Amino acid sequence: MKIFKFGGASVKDAEAVKNVAKIVGQFQQGKLMIVVSAMGKTTNALEGIVNSYIASKEDLPSRVSDLKRYHNNIIKELFNEVPTTLTEDLEKIFGYLEKRISIVANQSFDLIYDQIVPVGELLSTKIISAYLNFADVKNTWLDARKIILTDGSFRKANVDWELTQFTIDGLEWENEIFVTQGFIGGTKGNFMTTLGREGSDYTGAILANCLNAKSLTIWKDVEGVLNADPKFFNNTEKLDQISFKEAIELAYYGASVIHPKTIKPLQNKNIPLYVKSFVNPAEEGTKISEDFSKDGLIPCFIFKTNQCLVSFSTKDFSFVAEEQISELFQALHKFGFEVTAMQNSAINFSVNTTFIEEKLKLLIEELKEKYSVKYNSNLDLMTIRHYNEDIIKELTKGRKVLLQQRSRNTVKLIMS
Ligand code: ASP
Ligand code: MG
Repeated sequence: MKIFKFGGASVKDAEAVKNVAKIVGQFQQGKLMIVVSAMGKTTNALEGIVNSYIASKEDLPSRVSDLKRYHNNIIKELFNEVPTTLTEDLEKIFGYLEKRISIVANQSFDLIYDQIVPVGELLSTKIISAYLNFADVKNTWLDARKIILTDGSFRKANVDWELTQFTIDGLEWENEIFVTQGFIGGTKGNFMTTLGREGSDYTGAILANCLNAKSLTIWKDVEGVLNADPKFFNNTEKLDQISFKEAIELAYYGASVIHPKTIKPLQNKNIPLYVKSFVNPAEEGTKISEDFSKDGLIPCFIFKTNQCLVSFSTKDFSFVAEEQISELFQALHKFGFEVTAMQNSAINFSVNTTFIEEKLKLLIEELKEKYSVKYNSNLDLMTIRHYNEDIIKELTKGRKVLLQQRSRNTVKLIMS
């Protein structure tokens, strides 16, 4: 079995869906699992529907009809005659959505979110499965909610690996080609769950792991894993080959090519990951595997804006020792901060994190008795893997560096 994952951009309109069918036709040999995200910006649109529903806004019906129109237009372009089963399937999904948003919204936001947002992937996979069948790529539609089993941590569900493996082992895999949803799962109690935004890559990796797949290929609108985000840098270079370790480090520091959780399930079973362009599918792309022989040949840059350096000082001049650090981290964890750098001195401890003002206020309130908390916002965090002095000089030119940390391979610069 091989796994192909197609993201939202690769199925954003009828042309794109036809291209997916072409790629599958061209590259499929043997068993194939196709994991698909919601079409285009559908997940954002569904988030809009959730918010409007919860706040009882008047624009709710028009948001739903926009979603319908968008999908219907794609179908009209794909088929001369829309298969009745597809029409019925889509009516069922939209019927579910309309019923779900007609009841009183009295459950938690996260639970409601997860009962609505997965509609995007249900719609996209029904359409793509039907179109592939029509294009003579015979396939079986699978319901990820019955396969990827999770706990009930809505919006960031944790996979129940044992149960998921057990379910997968119990299924018949006689057919050749399967189509299923990325990003979504289900609980034992039949609630829908989601794995976190952009989680379809992770679905691909979970399935690869449990099916002992030969490889996972993520088809993207870029040529592969680049050494920097073209939004911020000119002259980016494609990395032909990197190791799992390099990939997980890049993803951890915020390179947005692959979802950070994707690497572990693949590494654990030594399953290679290919990142390839759906625009130029014949090009090589990037191979991510155990092989580390090409790591470090090209410096990699990861740039994050809207950063904030928070420093905590003990008010009574106690040392910031293990006890205080654990107290600080408990508070950071409680309010959901992700710490990307830290530093300590005698009575001071600083962390770098993404700036979210409301959360920061709560954190300061929580700690104000023992600590005075100060922060600098509007900062950038630049992480460079495989740096050299010239690169650092060039990137810090004319900027104030508030914190610099170096290890052998990585330098982190927090700059205003
Ligand atoms: N459709 C989901 C999202 O946009 C999952 C994904 O695309 O990976 O976040
Ligand atoms: Mg997406």
